[in-house]
Amino acid sequence: MSKLSLDRILQSQGFGTRKYCRTLIEDGEVAVNGAVQDNYKSPVETDNLVLTVFDEEWRYREHVYIALNKPANFECSRKPSHRPGVLTLLPEQFTWRDVQPVGRLDHDTTGMLLMSDDGPFIHALSSPKRHVPKVYHATTAEPVTDELIAQLLAGVQLHDEPAPLAALVCEKRGDHLLEIVLEQGKYHQVKRMLAAAGNHCSALHRAAIGALELASLDLEEGEWCYLDEAQLALLA
Ligand code: URA
Repeated sequence: MSKLSLDRILQSQGFGTRKYCRTLIEDGEVAVNGAVQDNYKSPVETDNLVLTVFDEEWRYREHVYIALNKPANFECSRKPSHRPGVLTLLPEQFTWRDVQPVGRLDHDTTGMLLMSDDGPFIHALSSPKRHVPKVYHATTAEPVTDELIAQLLAGVQLHDEPAPLAALVCEKRGDHLLEIVLEQGKYHQVKRMLAAAGNHCSALHRAAIGALELASLDLEEGEWCYLDEAQLALLA
């Protein structure tokens, strides 16, 4: 059980500055569990709270945990320079909540991108010590050969790495399609590993993180969803 004033709650959910949230409340634009509340000082229980703001319902969430099916041509950086940022694919409230990607995908990589406003969660999941496996589907310019697979499983040397990096799993999925599972998250890792093994990655898609598969979330490209406790547990 936790009670907070309504203006604080609205601000914490990303509806704008405290001042703006107070104006929204006083203008009668906010309902608490279905009943309009125009006193911003009123203490509100956050458990099972549903807010209605401008006729749209929002469940109160202390933090948000999101999976996005990232399309190509979106940047993951906080200050995108050449293409739109992935945050433009989410409701504006998430920018106010400081939602950030958990790790990064290249602008031309598609597939599963996790996002959250929970700093310790982001940090823990992106920590190199955590070794969360990530499953990629890489389209290759040259045919996939047994030798390529053997090289990627044995480890390839990237020029700025102290030791060779190896795939946890590497399987042929088509003449030019490879499933590759990595537990590190080095810069351009799949592309650089394929280049170091004498091939070229012409398209890259992240199909899963840990045991959470993008296909299980039923998201079109550009769509996102909240992740529940059971889905988050699959990221271990
Ligand atoms: N490896 C890459 O080369 N690019 C990505 O976006 C992710 C992994």
